[in-house]
Amino acid sequence: MQERSRSKVKGGKPLIVFAGRSNVGKSSTIRALTGRRVRVGKRPGSTRWEFLIDLGSIILADMAGFGHMAGQSKATIEETKITVIHRLEEWGKKIAVAILIVDVSLFRVLVERWDKRGEIPVDIEFYGFLSEISSGVIVAANKIDKVKKSKISYELDYLEMKLREAVPDTEPQIVPISASKRVNISHLKETIEANLDRRGVEKPEW
Ligand code: GDP
Repeated sequence: MQERSRSKVKGGKPLIVFAGRSNVGKSSTIRALTGRRVRVGKRPGSTRWEFLIDLGSIILADMAGFGHMAGQSKATIEETKITVIHRLEEWGKKIAVAILIVDVSLFRVLVERWDKRGEIPVDIEFYGFLSEISSGVIVAANKIDKVKKSKISYELDYLEMKLREAVPDTEPQIVPISASKRVNISHLKETIEANLDRRGVEKPEW
């Protein structure tokens, strides 16, 4: 059951949240995991509110994509990010697992660009934030198919280094995937289930 929501999550079911900048492949990943179509290929900026999918033991929440979007003002981009942050804070302890999707084919270039400007890259800012509100944060390093084979371990090491810098006392959980090519999706599923199991939550009905 898919539900567009601007209101609080009803009932007591725990949540699994999917967050990420727009265009990282969040909808494609959810589709690869659940077989459900959630806004793939939509116009940028048209997805300001979260979608909820009931997976039996848990509710999956697809958060609005944040960060730069073509054709959107800085104020709108900031507002979307703040809306996502507020919603996640509101849910708080209900969040059993948080999945941060990053585009690993762009991650290093974007982080280096932000670092040069002395700003905190939004992916890293969100990783820090999610780690504060949930002890089960998984980073899905998407679009691995776009990275040259010879560069894959370099890019993944860079991602790991940046996550460790952001949250030093936590072992990052990184799962490289390609949502569109369906690479490693079963590993992502198993990692999610292992995190849910640690919190005593039953396997979802994917
Ligand atoms: P969202 O905005 O994060 O929900 O991103 P979408 O799922 O709508 O995907 C954005 C674009 O990236 C679409 O054109 C997808 O086909 C493409 N995409 C998503 N996942 C992958 C991937 O693993 N590899 C490649 N090459 N493209 C992808």
